Amino acid sequence: MSDVNKTAAADSPVAGGIGTKEQDQAAAGSQVSGNSSLLPTYARYPIALVKGEGSWLWDDKGNKYLDFMCGLAVTNLGHAPQRIKEAIVKQLDQLWHVSNLFHIPNQEDAAKLLTDNSSADAVFFCNSGAEANEAAIKLARRYHQKVAGTGRYEIITFAQSFHGRTLATLTATGQEKVKEGFGPLPEGFRYVPLHDIDALEAAITDQTAAIMMETVLAEGGVIPVEPAFLQHVAKLCKEQGLLLIIDEIQTGMGRTGKLFSFEHYGIEPDIFTLAKGLGSGFPVGAMLAKGHLIEAFGAGSHGSTFGGTPLAMSAVKATIDTIVGDKVPARAAEMGDYLMAQLREKLAGHPLVLDIRGKGLMVGIVCSGPIAAALIAEGQKRGLLVVSAGPNVVRLLPNLLVTREEIDQAVSLLAGIFADHTATA
Ligand SMILES: *Cc1c(COP(=O)(O)O)cnc(C)c1O
Repeated sequence: MSDVNKTAAADSPVAGGIGTKEQDQAAAGSQVSGNSSLLPTYARYPIALVKGEGSWLWDDKGNKYLDFMCGLAVTNLGHAPQRIKEAIVKQLDQLWHVSNLFHIPNQEDAAKLLTDNSSADAVFFCNSGAEANEAAIKLARRYHQKVAGTGRYEIITFAQSFHGRTLATLTATGQEKVKEGFGPLPEGFRYVPLHDIDALEAAITDQTAAIMMETVLAEGGVIPVEPAFLQHVAKLCKEQGLLLIIDEIQTGMGRTGKLFSFEHYGIEPDIFTLAKGLGSGFPVGAMLAKGHLIEAFGAGSHGSTFGGTPLAMSAVKATIDTIVGDKVPARAAEMGDYLMAQLREKLAGHPLVLDIRGKGLMVGIVCSGPIAAALIAEGQKRGLLVVSAGPNVVRLLPNLLVTREEIDQAVSLLAGIFADHTATA
């Protein structure tokens, strides 16, 4: 396959994601052309992707790549899916944007599709994951201050979590790295280690408004939350009047084998957030809430110029119709099991592989050291695109319609990459 990309940049500096120190340093000096007009916020790989179709991407030199990262967990129905494209093109001919001061039928329809297919009762549309989490944080505070009358404002989140890059969401994020140099940070966030019930109970005060968490720590290393722990968190929230906020931005829209990952746990969050896969690549985010929270967000309390435009909503509607209608989550579960089984068969026992973990089509290969960046670079040379989740974890996020043959191909490439890495290590 491809043999360009002789020198890949440092580890994944993914949009919204978290890099290492080394990535930052690489970012500072990694402009391919050397005269970019862009701020150097990403340590970009020396590849320019220009075309995509299904599971495949092509660069500007004609090299072809099997895409197992989906930029990042976004193009869940593959690149340029026909049905979504047709819906967007049809809407392009009718109306692109109107103000939220007017009724937007497409937005109503998209919200209804989401509430019909989840435990939520109402939806606020925005444009990104961070904005969706920002809205969740605001709703939790406002509910406690304006509806419940408790005045509580603190949000508890977990170590190694990732919730976004705005000031409030980077503060919510349980990783110091994203906060450096951005102080003073907003007040009212506390962090506890995942799976530590005692620490969680100790962190709850009479000011605690909500607990906010992912069901699989995605950027944090593809760490699935133990069912007993999440169920205990949900119980604590009920007992103590705290809101449970689930960040489904990466896990949602079928990625883990259910439409929303909290369905695996038999719990219902008060609030959950979506973005990445929601528009199949069209930028859009959403915050979904249960009925008792609705009155906290009355007219004038929150808003977004671009949130829920007719154009974005055409992508959302077609995406949900496809995912629900074609039973895509069940397919993701099946293909996830297959991917996991193949990886275990071909990589287990390899001296560099400590664990293979994940849920559905969100899979992490846990390595014995900080070698993810080198493995990813080698993947790019061989025509396979994967991403890291911290320095030790290679993360696989194929699209949810990936075929067995494509999985076989990816696993075989990975097996070769691991084998050769050992040989040269
Ligand atoms: C990507 C991500 C975000 C941030 O989304 P953006 O669209 O980049 O703002 C928040 N939470 C999780 C779990 C994510 O994976």
